[in-house]
Amino acid sequence: MKAQILATTAAAALLAGCTTTGEAAMDRPLAEAPTAGSAAIPQGTGYFAADSTLPFLAPDFTKISEDDYLPAFEQGMAIQKAEVEAIVANPEAPTFANTIVALEKSGRMLDRVGNVFFALTGTNTTDRLDEINTEISPVLSAHYDSITLNPALFERVKAVYDNRAAMAMTPEDATLLENTYEGMVHAGAMLTDAQREQVKAINTKLSTITTELSQKVRSAMTDQPLVVDTRAELAGLSDADIQAAADLATEKGYPGKFAIALQNTTQQPVLPSLENRAVREKLFMLSYHRADGQRAVDTRPLIAEIAALRAEKAALFGAPDWATYAMWDRMAENPKTALGFMGQMVPALAATQRREAALLNEVIEAEGGDFEVQPWDWYRYANQVKAERYDLDEDAVMEYFQLQPVLEDGVFYMAEKLYGLTFERRTDLPVYHPDVWTYTVFDRDGSELGVFYFDPFQRPSKRGGAWMSNFVEQSDLWGTKPVIYNVLNIPKAAAGEPQLVSFDWVNTAFHEFGHALHGFFADQRYESLSGTATARDFVEYPSQVHEMWATYPEVLANYAKHYETGETIPAEMIAKIEAAAKFNQGYDFGETVAAALLDMKWHALTPAQARAIDTPAEVDAFERQALTELGLEVDLVPPRYRSTYFNHIFSSPEGYSAGYYSYLWTEMLDRDSRKWFRENGGLTRENGDHYRATVLSRGGTMDYFEMFENFAGRQPNITPMLEARGLIPGDEAADSEVADDGPAQVGDAGTGPIRD
Ligand SMILES: [Zn+2]
Repeated sequence: MKAQILATTAAAALLAGCTTTGEAAMDRPLAEAPTAGSAAIPQGTGYFAADSTLPFLAPDFTKISEDDYLPAFEQGMAIQKAEVEAIVANPEAPTFANTIVALEKSGRMLDRVGNVFFALTGTNTTDRLDEINTEISPVLSAHYDSITLNPALFERVKAVYDNRAAMAMTPEDATLLENTYEGMVHAGAMLTDAQREQVKAINTKLSTITTELSQKVRSAMTDQPLVVDTRAELAGLSDADIQAAADLATEKGYPGKFAIALQNTTQQPVLPSLENRAVREKLFMLSYHRADGQRAVDTRPLIAEIAALRAEKAALFGAPDWATYAMWDRMAENPKTALGFMGQMVPALAATQRREAALLNEVIEAEGGDFEVQPWDWYRYANQVKAERYDLDEDAVMEYFQLQPVLEDGVFYMAEKLYGLTFERRTDLPVYHPDVWTYTVFDRDGSELGVFYFDPFQRPSKRGGAWMSNFVEQSDLWGTKPVIYNVLNIPKAAAGEPQLVSFDWVNTAFHEFGHALHGFFADQRYESLSGTATARDFVEYPSQVHEMWATYPEVLANYAKHYETGETIPAEMIAKIEAAAKFNQGYDFGETVAAALLDMKWHALTPAQARAIDTPAEVDAFERQALTELGLEVDLVPPRYRSTYFNHIFSSPEGYSAGYYSYLWTEMLDRDSRKWFRENGGLTRENGDHYRATVLSRGGTMDYFEMFENFAGRQPNITPMLEARGLIPGDEAADSEVADDGPAQVGDAGTGPIRD
């Protein structure tokens, strides 16, 4: 029974191109009756009615058919409903055990079916599974809402919570109690009937308006391509791209012309290739001004209304603004902290933007151009400089990375050196697709830690991206060990060809295994606090940290060997990859920071402030002020999404609103932690054991700032992130690679405290 409280974790992960989905869904084993009144609880039937009989309770895919899911979902909900009713009907006074723990234990059959079902809809779906998903998803949300908003249940939870000072509890118990209580309050348990009606009315309006916005944004993107008359105007594009443009023009009703569709971001992928500057400008302007009233579509009135409705909804919950309400369970806690954090980056970022523009202007001048760089020129010239400086042949890099060595001699080697883990391939466990590999994971003392499923290849039945989740989560309450899977989308080599892996996918493999370690080292009593069940602005941190080992010399020497010659990857190749990662960050990083700032500014408004923005012109003015007041070079580096087409935050009632900063926030924690590892001897068991003890084994049981401080011995700081991005001079050896236009000193950047 954890879906409500933890539904936030999967969302932010998407921003980093990765998701951990298990904690947002469900699971559990063990045959214990859920406290009093259990006589009335119905018995399930079918595969999901009982725990798997396989080792570690691993799912037995040989026994599951598509027809099992719907009945199991229905029975699972009925059972949990009866379990909750039994908690409410318990004649004994409410206690931590008979209320909070009983609730935590409820819904095991539902968890069991959900853990398998949602794994398969992501990794190996079918038309039938998709149909079931569409049918069951709204029913499941209504089911969980009915528990979270059950007034009699809340009365008992509140009674336990109000008595907490007098109770003897472990810190983990206290966290479970607090999360359960606050989760229900957040959902509206404390509202009066009148307030509840108001919230309902706001939700209905938000649902309508956000749907309208997302349709308008879509139509502004798909119905308004750039149309040009002649092939010559598209000079620079490949013949295939020009043919596609001709086809699109015909499709859109412009036969004989050429059309280029807009992509969802402000920058457009074809801009660097277009030689005709006027066409570049036209395409960019179409993108930048979509949905802002310059053409048929105008989402500005909708944005103002969404911001106001959210602020008003937050006020009903007693919060000063929407961000404060939305961030109730985040590490950053409130918009002031998030804005202060971003504000600290701006001086270095703006200086870098100016420096990069100056460099690009030099290139333009050297080529005889008589103009200053504009956003529509930026990547054309930046890519040119990048190619000259870091002429990286990605195919040549790939030849050093073969899939099995990447996993077994790279990722697993890192886990052995840092944490003492060992791995054994197994062939006895059923898998949901023949391309899935399974391993037993052994702990540092040789005991079994859990099972790892590795599902590396792209296929039509799998959704894009990469993610980690659990079939079974660690829990002392149930006596369960983690059963974890990592999903990637690496293109599969033809039969007989070596299975090479791009460097990006190598990095992703280390990242996803970082999530897996967070799950394997879980040491919690309660599943809803176990492993990766952490805040949206924390969950990506441990995974990001593990990317550092992909290029760590000792690890590279063990796994990055040429598939033909067996030679280790040359150090210069890695140095080039790392130096290239610092290039153009004024733009790359800047457009993300600008989008995150916009998100937070819109959602830090009080109802009165939001209602004051009541004309389209005021929406424009608000956006401009939000971006310029801190000194960003917003005309050179506009946000990745302008407000008018910022789907992430405006296209659904909550979406990722007040959450876009999370990606930057976890990167701060990540880079600061890498610095700690570097300063403390790098890849050692001592360091690994310390990180495991202070962070990876803690799940969501404690204050995240305290967790970080236990690890690093101090509060997090943005300086290492700015260094890693090349925005300020850093302490890494690779900095010597940065040429004369390299980072400038920025006096006081990143020295302030982060927590408000
Ligand atoms: Zn991730």
